[in-house]
Amino acid sequence: MINFTVGPVQSSDVVRAIGAEQVPYFRTPEFSELMLENERLVKKYAGASEDSRAVFITGSGTASMEATIMNTLNENDKVLVVNGGGFGQRFVDLCDLHSIKYDVIKLNCGEPLTEEKLAEYSGKDYTGFVVNIHETSTGVHYNLELISKFCKENNLFLIVDAISSFLADEFNMNKYGVDVMITGSQKALACPPGVSLIVLSPKAVERVNSAECKCMYFDLKNALKNGERGQTPFTPAVGILIQINARLKEIEKNGGAEAEIQRTYELAMDFRNKIKDLPLEIVTTAPSNAVTSLHPAKNNAHEIFTILKDEYQIWVCPNGGDMKDRIFRVGHIGALTKADNDNLVDALKDLQTRGIL
Ligand SMILES: *Cc1c(COP(=O)(O)O)cnc(C)c1O
Repeated sequence: MINFTVGPVQSSDVVRAIGAEQVPYFRTPEFSELMLENERLVKKYAGASEDSRAVFITGSGTASMEATIMNTLNENDKVLVVNGGGFGQRFVDLCDLHSIKYDVIKLNCGEPLTEEKLAEYSGKDYTGFVVNIHETSTGVHYNLELISKFCKENNLFLIVDAISSFLADEFNMNKYGVDVMITGSQKALACPPGVSLIVLSPKAVERVNSAECKCMYFDLKNALKNGERGQTPFTPAVGILIQINARLKEIEKNGGAEAEIQRTYELAMDFRNKIKDLPLEIVTTAPSNAVTSLHPAKNNAHEIFTILKDEYQIWVCPNGGDMKDRIFRVGHIGALTKADNDNLVDALKDLQTRGIL
């Protein structure tokens, strides 16, 4: 099997080997040390300031999205939510559920966010801005520089879901004035699913510490407090946190976040160049390095996904809802190589010969 989905993705041999080991007890100085190293490296790769914090949540990415909404926003806020697909909609649903006031910046499938569009919302009574910087459902990567400028001008608290973008696209909390960054273990961190993490700027830490969180498991005050000594309030996904540690150190050894982003960029460009002559349209003009969203000329995206899986042992990522037949996605995160791209491109060419593509 070759896995080109956008999560869970393929893990390195080092990370996989840890999965075969016994899971150790975790209330120990050794595990605390590992967790403090995880926090240090994640903050470094996120371009967070020294006095920022990172907390690790046992739960998928959505758990950290929800924890962020519950702990950093309240009834005095009114936020702008960028909604250009399935993950933007999830933030809208979370704001509804937790009674956070919001307005939506609605974008069409794959449509980039422009300065003109943002200008319509300038100088209003908003207090925060919430965005999935890579809207994974369509592959569009929003311009963080524009968003950052807009938020600085309007003094907005900036929450960025970078779940599928962290370690794949250029990102820096300090440079862009990001207050909260969220990511997950099963995307470019290339570990099994089960852990998500939240990096909090000093301003975000302050919001968390003064929030009244009506949930025990997702109370980030508790997570921050325990994190000071490298621990978590409850039993975490210990094995995955150990795998994350190995992965973070692997990235460090290979040249850090920048090198990983460059590697992903090259893999994405290699694939996009190789499919130029195939009847596949790239859905957005502003793609993330993490994924290429494709619209097949015959509108049979789901059929292509199924045939690649069943007959070629290649997994691409299908889409749901009204995009089911229009779009499938090819991921470039995880342990993939240009030779893997060749395999997929050969399979696509074969589908073309067979009259399917
Ligand atoms: C994968 C992803 C999530 C999290 O989804 P989970 O299934 O909860 O891990 C959230 N936002 C984006 C942009 C994603 O790509």
